[in-house]
Amino acid sequence: MKVFHKQMKQINQKLMKGNYELLTGRCELHLYKTNDFKLHKDIISPFQALQELAKKEINADLQIISSFRSYERQKHIWNMKVSGKREIFDDNEHPIDITVLQPKEIIQKIMRFSALPGASRHHWGTDIDIYDANECKKSDVKLTHNECIKGGVFEKLHCWIDEKISLNQLGGFYRPYAQDLGGVALEKWHISYAPISSLYFNQYDINLLKKSLLVDEILLRESILDNLEFLFKQYIQNISQTTT
Ligand SMILES: [Zn+2]
Repeated sequence: MKVFHKQMKQINQKLMKGNYELLTGRCELHLYKTNDFKLHKDIISPFQALQELAKKEINADLQIISSFRSYERQKHIWNMKVSGKREIFDDNEHPIDITVLQPKEIIQKIMRFSALPGASRHHWGTDIDIYDANECKKSDVKLTHNECIKGGVFEKLHCWIDEKISLNQLGGFYRPYAQDLGGVALEKWHISYAPISSLYFNQYDINLLKKSLLVDEILLRESILDNLEFLFKQYIQNISQTTT
C-alpha cells in the first residue's frame, strides 16, 4: 500500500509539472520505447503481467497493435479523414460520403472511431489496442467489432477479458469503450491501465483541449471550437466505468 501511495505521489508530481504536453500528446518523456511500441514507463510491468496471465490461462499471445500516438500522428490521421484522403466508415463498416455532410456531422462521424488531435487516450501511453498473436498475424488484424464477438478470430481473448473484468482480475486494466454510449463506438480491443489513466482523465479538461486547438491549426477547427462543449462531453468524457 505504501509503495502504491508513493507511486501515486510521483505521478501526481509529474502531472503538476507538464500535464498539458503529456495529456495532449506533445511529450514523450514519460514513455518507455522499444522497436515495436512506446508505452508509459509505469505500465510496462502491469502489461507484462497481463501477458503472462493470458498465456497461462488461455494460451493467448497478447500483443500490442497500437500504443502511444503523438499529437502530430493524430493530426495527420484527422486531416487525412477530413480531406477525404482516408476513408471514414459508418457503424456497419461502410464508407461514408462526407461531401454531402455539414462540418459538425463530419466531425461526429470521425470522432465515433478517431479522436481529435490532442484528445486521444493513446496520447497518454496508458492505453493500448491489443490482439492475440496466436490467432492472427499483426498485418491481418482489422480492429473491428466482428473480430471480438462469437465466431470472431479474437472471441477467446475477449471472452476471457470479459470474465477477468467482471471479477476485477485484469491487473488494473479495463475497457474505456466497453459499451456504446453514443459517443465513441464500442472498442473491445482498447484497454487502459486505470491506476494512471484515471488520474490523467481527471486532469484532462475542456480548457486544455481548447488550448491545444488554439495553438495549432487542424482541419474543421472553427466548427470544432463552436461545438466544443458538446464534443467534449459526448466523445471524451462519456466513457465506460472501470468496472465494466
Ligand atoms: Zn485504441
